Amino acid sequence: MLRDTPSRRLSAKLAALGRDGLLRRRQALEGPQGVRPRIDGREYLAFCSNDYLGLANDPRVVRAAVEAAQLFGVGSGASHMVTGHSVLHERLELRLAQFTGLPRALLFCSGYQANIGALTALAGRGDAVFSDERNHASLIDGTRLSRADVVRYPHCDLAALDALMGASDAALKLVVTDGVFSMDGDIAPLPGLLALCDRHDALLLVDDAHGFGVLGARGAGVLAHFGLSSPRIVYVGTLGKAAGVSGAFVAAADEIVETVLQQARTYMFTTASPAMLAAAVDASLEIIGDEEWRRERLRDLVAALKRGLRIGAGARLAASDTPIQPLIVGGNEPALAASAALRERGILVTAIRPPTVAAGTARLRIALSAAHVPDDIARLVAALNEILPA
Ligand SMILES: *Cc1c(COP(=O)(O)O)cnc(C)c1O
Repeated sequence: MLRDTPSRRLSAKLAALGRDGLLRRRQALEGPQGVRPRIDGREYLAFCSNDYLGLANDPRVVRAAVEAAQLFGVGSGASHMVTGHSVLHERLELRLAQFTGLPRALLFCSGYQANIGALTALAGRGDAVFSDERNHASLIDGTRLSRADVVRYPHCDLAALDALMGASDAALKLVVTDGVFSMDGDIAPLPGLLALCDRHDALLLVDDAHGFGVLGARGAGVLAHFGLSSPRIVYVGTLGKAAGVSGAFVAAADEIVETVLQQARTYMFTTASPAMLAAAVDASLEIIGDEEWRRERLRDLVAALKRGLRIGAGARLAASDTPIQPLIVGGNEPALAASAALRERGILVTAIRPPTVAAGTARLRIALSAAHVPDDIARLVAALNEILPA
């Protein structure tokens, strides 16, 4: 009999994933991110990226990065705690705090690291973290790593959360939620969540990966959208989506940010993000704040999509007013088939299946960008109306 070596075991696991249709394949872009990426020599019309404002290849942002690279080099060479921290990082943290209206901001290399860092720094054994059941994977991982008791609550269900918080006698209570849910596009009921945190003396961590730059006056994010401000709020914004660059930040009251700076292992034990990227984000913030037309364009495109789609009984658009417009088709096979049929027509839309979303709710995740023009939506709508079962 053949010995079951580690590599044979891994190959068998991969083969099983393949049989279940769960293997993922990457596609290599032959140029910059944008709504018309080139892949294998063919130009597509894409509705897949989180570059909501179309800034990932903006010449002003690119120039800021290039000029900063000439002055500061490419690599940061060390963690922020050693010599990786520069005046460009320092300046960006001040600007992010101003931009979001929060007392202080701390930069991270990615949203994934920011969420893990903030959650593990702020919560520990004996504490309780209340987590929306549709939260992003990085929040789920952060709550697990924190070693706090994790209490999942039904999606956006304030009454259920109230009862769960009331039943807990944890030393510290922390409610954790996406600001805009990444696979559904709906906005968390933050005023209600904050009221519960006031009642139960808890902190509220809001991961605004999909709201920063998109929602609120000047794109300040979901807190500005609701007009919320509170020393209980821990705000996480990411800089690789609407901001078009890379990285993330945690913004909150000084003692919260200082705790994260002192305790987050994903802050301490990683090389600082290059200073040139901080300069790029700085240029991007200027555009995000000033160019309101990008958010207006997004709102117009969302409206055009909703107006144009003729959806039969087999599908429905999720209730979303954000640039994330999921078209829920139900089964995995229909979702994959629709995505493949669009691709044949030169249109890229990602099919999202379980376990990323609940079984029976496989979907096309349509992500709009201010770089789309009305004709792009018309093309998508025409293709979907042709493909979807009436
Ligand atoms: C993308 C995303 C993150 C991770 O941010 P990165 O900067 O890409 O690591 C965190 N939370 C949510 C909700 C996201 O969609």
